[in-house]
Amino acid sequence: MQSVTHIRGLIIDMDGVLWHGTEAIPGLIDFFQTLNDLDIRYILATNNASLTPAQYVSKLAKMGVSISADKILTSGLATALYLSQKVNPKATSVFVIGIDGATQPLLELGFTLTGLYEVKNDQHPDKGADIVVCGKDETLSWDKLATATLNIRAGAQFIGTNGDTTLPTEHGVTHGNGAILAGLEIATGIKPTIIGKPEPIMYQQAMTLLGTKPEETVAIGDRLETDILGAIRTGIDSIMVLTGISSEEDLKKSDYQPTWVMQDIIAITKALKEKHTL
Ligand SMILES: [Mg+2]
Repeated sequence: MQSVTHIRGLIIDMDGVLWHGTEAIPGLIDFFQTLNDLDIRYILATNNASLTPAQYVSKLAKMGVSISADKILTSGLATALYLSQKVNPKATSVFVIGIDGATQPLLELGFTLTGLYEVKNDQHPDKGADIVVCGKDETLSWDKLATATLNIRAGAQFIGTNGDTTLPTEHGVTHGNGAILAGLEIATGIKPTIIGKPEPIMYQQAMTLLGTKPEETVAIGDRLETDILGAIRTGIDSIMVLTGISSEEDLKKSDYQPTWVMQDIIAITKALKEKHTL
């Protein structure tokens, strides 16, 4: 195993690394205590665009970990930050398929959100949107899909918060945001720009927030095709934990590999305590 002594910043996935659903993964409090003791900076970065940073802060607080909201980067926030660097938010309207985690960062940065095209009543919104953002939305409806399609076909820029094809639930594996994006892509002939992992945009934003260089930054995740592939595309090292989606079997079949494989955050904590010398 290579040394972990060069690590100054970590970009850490949450679901499958820090918790399963509402259940903390063992070693959570000691892991964050160790990062603080060793002065390792971190950003918690998730493809999930449904919750806001504040909602993640309170989720962690319930598990006994106190962090500030500026350490959380969701794909919803990453999308709003990305768009605010491309266009003037005050002059830009956005139609969103998504809930708080996608809409709130856009509103906070000054974008105007447009409403639904009511297909059944044939009511047009005041003005078409300049941009369509699509993220996880459990209240997804025919009218929302129609509004997104009409706007994209009329020339709106098409953005996906993340392209996860599947979503693990207590019932089994169901459709992820990528499946909805695929439907909109077929309906419009337009490919979305995707912000979340494995595209490098969110990892690059996280590095800017950390103020670390690629060679001193490491991504931690449980999913090969998002967390690990994203790290490879961004040019940073990665640790894959085995407490989430991807298994050792998946690793054997994969064309690309993480820099390190560790059982869980307890193993990472141990490695950092033993080998980290900063
Ligand atoms: Mg995960």
